[in-house]
Amino acid sequence: MSKSRSTKYSGKKESGTGVRFRDCKVEQKGNDIMAYNAVWLYGQVIEKPVINQRTEDEGAQIKVKILRRPYTNKGGIASGKLYVSTPIVSVTDKSLLLKVAKIRMGDMLSIRGVLSSCDVEKHSVCDCGNAKSALGITTYITALNIRRCEKGIDQYRGFELLKEHVVESNTVVLLGSVCRPPESYEKDRKITSAQYQIAVKSNGKHLDYIWVKNFGKQAAEAMSFKKGDDVFIEGSISTRTISRTEKCDKCGIEYKWDETVAELIPYTSARLPTPRATKAAIQEDN
Ligand SMILES: [Zn+2]
Repeated sequence: MSKSRSTKYSGKKESGTGVRFRDCKVEQKGNDIMAYNAVWLYGQVIEKPVINQRTEDEGAQIKVKILRRPYTNKGGIASGKLYVSTPIVSVTDKSLLLKVAKIRMGDMLSIRGVLSSCDVEKHSVCDCGNAKSALGITTYITALNIRRCEKGIDQYRGFELLKEHVVESNTVVLLGSVCRPPESYEKDRKITSAQYQIAVKSNGKHLDYIWVKNFGKQAAEAMSFKKGDDVFIEGSISTRTISRTEKCDKCGIEYKWDETVAELIPYTSARLPTPRATKAAIQEDN
């Protein structure tokens, strides 16, 4: 078996028109790319926050435990079984960093932010000590505001509080463009899930690339989304651990390592009609 990986945040953002992220590209329609990106979380701090004070990459990362439910009922309230997710909250804002310095394990936080992504090098280490890295994407929350609601709560009481707040916690509202078309997964000739990626403009110019995963009936609906479609999504953040197998370059042995990925699981998702200006531009092109 292997040592687990460590993920290094390069923090690099790509910006501009026709941005490329690996093999994923979105064409911006002039300046009228529609965008909205908002995240609300209520979570418990489960690891000591990592604070980096070097000026070039000053910032902090907080790992929080949050809950989510798989779907919403007819009234729009999250329902169904409770799932635990443990996303990373990144803090770069100077005034927020002062607050983060006081945050400890067990604290309950109310967070308002945006869903973000960045390019990372993911490392895995073989038992022989040989390290391998591969370029990947990581999804996290950039905090715009953090409020500490409770100090140093034990995990049992913490879980009770998470349950009490589950309705307003872990909510994501996004408006973005499909940049990688949906791929479906089937079982017994029925679509069970569909995965695609959307580009979202959060603040200023940069684009974030978010993985979206739909299940069941929603997955079948999502299969009609095309690259370039503007979609509106309300959902929640889910994290899961994927076990990867890697072959060591040095000793040739195959070893396993775990990667944690964060995805957006929609409660609702809908394609927006193409704006008239864009339609006109497309017709002119032809
Ligand atoms: Zn090796």
